Amino acid sequence: MLRNKDWLFSWRWKLFVIFITISVVPLVGFYMMMLAATNDYYIRDKETTLLATANIIAGSIVRGNFLTDPATRHDFDEVIIERGRDGGFRVMVIDSMGLVVNDSFGSETGRVLVVPEVIRAIEANNRVNTRFAEESVYAAAAITNADGDNVAAVLIVSSIDEILAYGEEMQERFVLFVLLIVVILTVLVLVISKLVINPLNNFVRVVERAGEGHFDEKIHIRGRDEYSKLGRAFNHMVSKLALSENSREEFVSNVSHELKTPLSSIKVLTESILLMENVPTEMYTEFLKDINSEVDRMNNIINDLLTLVKLDQHELPLNMKPTDINRMTEDTLRRLAPLAAQKDIELFYENIRPVTISADEMKLSLALSNIVENGIKYTPEEGSITVTVDCDHQHLFISVSDTGIGISEEDHPKVFTRFFRADKTRNRETGGTGLGLAISHQTVLLHGGSIRLDSKEGEGSTFLVRIPLRG
Ligand code: ADP
Repeated sequence: MLRNKDWLFSWRWKLFVIFITISVVPLVGFYMMMLAATNDYYIRDKETTLLATANIIAGSIVRGNFLTDPATRHDFDEVIIERGRDGGFRVMVIDSMGLVVNDSFGSETGRVLVVPEVIRAIEANNRVNTRFAEESVYAAAAITNADGDNVAAVLIVSSIDEILAYGEEMQERFVLFVLLIVVILTVLVLVISKLVINPLNNFVRVVERAGEGHFDEKIHIRGRDEYSKLGRAFNHMVSKLALSENSREEFVSNVSHELKTPLSSIKVLTESILLMENVPTEMYTEFLKDINSEVDRMNNIINDLLTLVKLDQHELPLNMKPTDINRMTEDTLRRLAPLAAQKDIELFYENIRPVTISADEMKLSLALSNIVENGIKYTPEEGSITVTVDCDHQHLFISVSDTGIGISEEDHPKVFTRFFRADKTRNRETGGTGLGLAISHQTVLLHGGSIRLDSKEGEGSTFLVRIPLRG
């Protein structure tokens, strides 16, 4: 809904103004030009006709000797009145002194009139002029005597009322026509806005709802136009937001849960000791050991979480240096050898090609260490783990294969998510936090690489780390 003066800025209104401007304004301009041209044409035509008529009357006055022979007065009057009546105008004959010799209306006969058109006609034969203030055409033709001198002039005064009235009538029709155009344009704007702007308003409503955190509403997509593309992109974005909102909530609840478990254990252990009387020292020691291991567990979780959060926020900037990956892998395996030895697991290292890349050695070796440690954790005694370092001309490859319990296909996409454990109960025994692979994954991502998992339940797992040689 449009509020207050929002409609002034709405596209519906803008479209209306644009349509009117590009259609009505040129139309009005064109009409004004046409009207002026038509008026001009009719007036010029009238002027020519009147002047020709004035000349004809002048000719008949000369031929009838009306000015020189007083006996012809009656005929003279008749000719003038008749001409005036036939033509629907006023005819006057005025001599060079300004004396009105004859007037078809009769009223001015005998008077003296100063008519510039008459003066000019006597001076130069013909004169026609339109007096717009009087809405009349003045056409004057000279009357010449036997000696060839201009002695008087015939003046025709005719109104241009009918021409102006025609213009006004045209104007009324034009206004109606413009009104019709405005109505058509309004309907057109309404139809266009229904097609183009209404989906946009719907769009705005859904975007506003998403802004308030309601990610469940989607834009209804119809057709394949630009709106549909925008709608699809928006829906996709909102689903991603919803997903990240969900995983954030899930993450928070996971963190609380993971921290609550060791806390509850500590509480149970301390309470049971407090409630017991005459507790033997060995029992104290045993309980304190358990409490200590729960504290260690909380400590591990918090440390891993902090590492992850810092990696996420890029707070731990990568300290990139040329790193000999073969040496780094060997060092990592050497560190983990005692752990593997505890379970009689053999650690093999295959150095296929020497590789040196720009990397943050500490973080990358921690990432590798997490993967190999998992191999040791999830491989039964007397198994083996093989680590291979190789490269092609674009990538470094580190693969870690174990002969362990494997990961079911449905868990493959989840192993890199935070707090994921295939088997929660066993995990408490192995002491895992469920964050190790998430840290490894994030670190490899920061190096521009990826981790692929190839594993089958009961048949062991292979983690393949791939990092571009030139990050
Ligand atoms: P954790 O600290 O529990 O080991 P990780 O993030 O390192 O957490 O691993 C997540 C889960 O993935 C583990 O709990 C385990 O179920 C599974 N996993 C990881 N590595 C292996 C492996 N090599 N073999 C079998 N399961 C594995």
